[in-house]
Amino acid sequence: MILSKNINAIVPLSGGFESMCAAWYAKKNNLNAVAFHVLNQEAAPYTARPQLAAAQKQAEYFDMQLIVDESTIPQVVGVHNQNYPVLQGMSVLAMLVAGNPHIQFKYVVYGANMEDSFRQRLQLRFPMRAVMASQSSQLDMHGVNPDIIAKAPKNIFPFEYLTKSEMIAMIHQSDKELLDMVWCCTGQSGTGRYIIKDDKPCGKCTKCHEWKSARTVAWKSIFKRQEGHIDRGI
Ligand SMILES: [Zn+2]
Repeated sequence: MILSKNINAIVPLSGGFESMCAAWYAKKNNLNAVAFHVLNQEAAPYTARPQLAAAQKQAEYFDMQLIVDESTIPQVVGVHNQNYPVLQGMSVLAMLVAGNPHIQFKYVVYGANMEDSFRQRLQLRFPMRAVMASQSSQLDMHGVNPDIIAKAPKNIFPFEYLTKSEMIAMIHQSDKELLDMVWCCTGQSGTGRYIIKDDKPCGKCTKCHEWKSARTVAWKSIFKRQEGHIDRGI
């Protein structure tokens, strides 16, 4: 498969809320974006499929091409490998940019909010270094071609000044139906896993609580706003 040379942006699409907002932003700004999803059933045996289904629904809604990268590397499932999507995502991002020199990617759009954008910025230094070195055929960053740096895709964080609940209120006002296309549940407890049946969120893990809490904060904002109403959703 050859990607269209008209593509000018990349959106990592996990199936969760923030990355969906990144896709929303790309669409709102008429970027011609391609989305990618990392699938890893070894590390997330119960949530990988519903997460992918959510990402597919979102991509369809935005009429965005979705690339799915599947890892089948054997992994011990536990509480210490929660960040596998970040690691796998770095690799996909690097390969997508380095492997498609016919495309002038202008932006990589992230949905990080004000609570986690800095951490995401730190994580992104290294794949970008790898991409720049690869495109310059160098092993040492001092040898990187200046033209490659000048044309490198920019990581953008359009929502880094908003909280999660404020982003929920934003989407509620713009494209309310999107709030039903989100999969947040990791099913992970402190010591193991909550049971997930029939692709329904467990309602107990940290991410389920975070989602419920943010939706409640947005719903409560009716008391502070002069007009409008945000559905609690849960
Ligand atoms: Zn959950």
